[in-house]
Amino acid sequence: MSTLDLRAQTRSLLLSLGVPAERFDGEGELRVRSPIDGSVIGQVPVDLVTSVDTKIERAQAAFQSWRVVPAPRRGELIRLLGEELRAHKDTLGELVTLEAGKVTSEGLGEVQEMIDICDFAVGLSRQLYGLTIASERPGHRMMETWHPVGPCGVITAFNFPVAVWAWNAALAIVCGNPVLWKPSEKTPLTALACQAIFDRAVSRFGDAPADLQQLLVGQAVHGEALAASTKVPIVSATGSTRMGRAVAPVVAQRFGKAILELGGNNAMIVAPSADLELAVRAIAFSAVGTAGQRCTSLRRLFVHEAISEELLERLERAYGSLPVGDPREAGTLVGPLIDRTSYEAFAEALRRATEAGGQVSGGGRALSEEHPQAFYARPAIVRMPRQSSVVREETFAPILYAMTYSDLDEAIALQNGVTQGLSSCIFTNDLREAERFLSAAGSDCGIANVNIGPSGAEIGGAFGGEKETGGGRESGSDAWKGYMRRQTNTVNYSAELPLAQGIKFG
Ligand code: NAD
Repeated sequence: MSTLDLRAQTRSLLLSLGVPAERFDGEGELRVRSPIDGSVIGQVPVDLVTSVDTKIERAQAAFQSWRVVPAPRRGELIRLLGEELRAHKDTLGELVTLEAGKVTSEGLGEVQEMIDICDFAVGLSRQLYGLTIASERPGHRMMETWHPVGPCGVITAFNFPVAVWAWNAALAIVCGNPVLWKPSEKTPLTALACQAIFDRAVSRFGDAPADLQQLLVGQAVHGEALAASTKVPIVSATGSTRMGRAVAPVVAQRFGKAILELGGNNAMIVAPSADLELAVRAIAFSAVGTAGQRCTSLRRLFVHEAISEELLERLERAYGSLPVGDPREAGTLVGPLIDRTSYEAFAEALRRATEAGGQVSGGGRALSEEHPQAFYARPAIVRMPRQSSVVREETFAPILYAMTYSDLDEAIALQNGVTQGLSSCIFTNDLREAERFLSAAGSDCGIANVNIGPSGAEIGGAFGGEKETGGGRESGSDAWKGYMRRQTNTVNYSAELPLAQGIKFG
């Protein structure tokens, strides 16, 4: 593999999707590096910060006409988007691999998630249902209706460079809202590809307003502008808790709606009755998949002391043979970290864990001679004596901290004993333990699973987490309500004017 290969490969994929060369192959300020070898694979012009307001005005103009298009017709656009994504799944998946470093099947899986949310949103476009409510007044009817809100700002992270946009855009557009997307500065090329794919769906659709979906290529400051604008009533922001802490008060200050999808520190409890074979496979996928760079990656393992030796030995053996390498090659399970900063955070966390009494197996850098500018990490398991401060932090890398427990309540308290609240799971064949874990006294996370790892959610459920994960919900179930405004309607079809609560006036 040479640098030329990667750049040429990227170029040909983008051109085949219809992205004009000047959008990624000129003198653009944003130099995009592939984590595969650290080489520059594109240069993208950044939007002037002063142009953000212009784009917001355009989104407002698009809103005026899109909000009155019947929702099932809006769904037709998303149906076409789903078709386009199906047709370009391989190309877009390959681009995700080149730009974000995901192994091929995970790159493709990410595009499949986009297709799945489109299917979901198309069905939703014929629902968006409210309630009818019994009125206390004769000859009156009460109901709830849901209306579009206005432009939806979408801020996304590097690790799901395309799916998170689709989760938001498919729902927002079916709900009647234009979208302004600020992708991660580390992954603007896949965003350009998505915009081109969306534009094809729009041209087949025929009469969508211009600027229904716009890109804002830039840095954090572009996201800040979206968060601050009173003309962007919804801001859906996915990224670190640090980013959410900056965005949330700005949106709240102007009474906007924020959907926050922030950091996680996800755990698994393995109980004595667990199927260990299943547990080992689930742990390996959820702790090392996407090189530990999923918001739902497994980071903390609580194993019952009666089975901990057996489980950890099996796990350490499985880790010993994990193929780390070029994510494009068949057989690779662990691709690169996104950049040097990520690798440094990985190494620093392992140093702190060792200082706190942890015993590390695995760890260290791989392929540094072949790729001095890329950062491949060997996944690490750290046997920790206790849940010390480094364990309570999210390090976005393949580190699994393993601890033992003797009592389930103690394990649940430890699993809940962090500031994040995204995903969690228990492996057990004991019904009482499973139900306890899912009960009000169990996991405090937005996602709690039994005999499945914490990562790899399906589109049908609402996705998101509690505490410092931000409290937002995206994707399935009734997450669509976050993109609409609720209106309570009372209709009087009588010839009287009775007042509620029996009040007499005049
Ligand atoms: P990041 O916070 O560095 O960046 C995310 C996005 O926020 C980028 O587009 C960035 O430009 C923008 N941004 C940064 N500061 C901002 C500010 N002050 N105002 C507005 N926008 C700002 O995150 P990252 O490194 O790209 O992604 C990794 C993090 O994202 C991890 O913490 C991971 O857990 C989290 N994540 C969460 C979810 C979820 O659904 N909960 C999903 C994916 C990633």
